Amino acid sequence: MADNRREFSDNEKMLLHNEVGGRCPLCGEVLTYKKNKKIHKSFEVAHIYPANPRPDEVMLLQDEERLSDDVNDFKNVIAVCRICHKKFDTPRTIEEYRSWMRLKRRLLQNTALKSTYILFNVEEEIKVVLEKLNNETVEGELVQLSYDSLKIDEKTNDSFPFAIKRTVKNDVVDYFDYMHRLFIDMDQINPYKFETLASQIKCFYLKCMQINQNQEMVYTSLVDWLNEKTNSYSRRACEIVVAYFIQDCEVFS
Ligand SMILES: [Zn+2]
Repeated sequence: MADNRREFSDNEKMLLHNEVGGRCPLCGEVLTYKKNKKIHKSFEVAHIYPANPRPDEVMLLQDEERLSDDVNDFKNVIAVCRICHKKFDTPRTIEEYRSWMRLKRRLLQNTALKSTYILFNVEEEIKVVLEKLNNETVEGELVQLSYDSLKIDEKTNDSFPFAIKRTVKNDVVDYFDYMHRLFIDMDQINPYKFETLASQIKCFYLKCMQINQNQEMVYTSLVDWLNEKTNSYSRRACEIVVAYFIQDCEVFS
């Protein structure tokens, strides 16, 4: 039987290695090793839908979704360690196939979104907000918002897990009023600063929605983006900022 697999170029392998952040997405094993002062690859390019399916595998996967009709398309392959590859291929199961499909889809979406980061900027002043949130003196200035004024429940759906929802609600209750005052002060010094900032958050939120409407993914992507745009100063403070903009209706509007 003819072998449908094709050899992937070094550049393609580099992209696949980058896509999984250099570690096997299944077991976490680092996908390179050093020997004789040289770095070697220790991953394999695994086909999600098999390149050369046996008749029983064709039957097993006949109703399953595929990310590409071409088995050698970038969307149908993933960099994994040799052991996870072997386990995936033998014996093939529907559950693992679906789980790898979900994994690859998420990786593709992450890459698509990250490639747009450069297009979406955020006003420098947001850093001042993050710093203030991280400063101990904030504690004396917090005024709790009433739980009755929360808008989180009406704007979220089943794709927003309870644990995140709870954190967002608590963040809004604790910090919304304080941040609102910060933004008013900011606008007095630089008119339209808050509106600019809010529209930047809204724009990136809409970009996320174009790629995937899952609210957990949108929330996480917003936090990741804001964190990267602020030089990874404080991911926790970025969560609080995103919570503010959920309550203020720029996000999940
Ligand atoms: Zn592995």
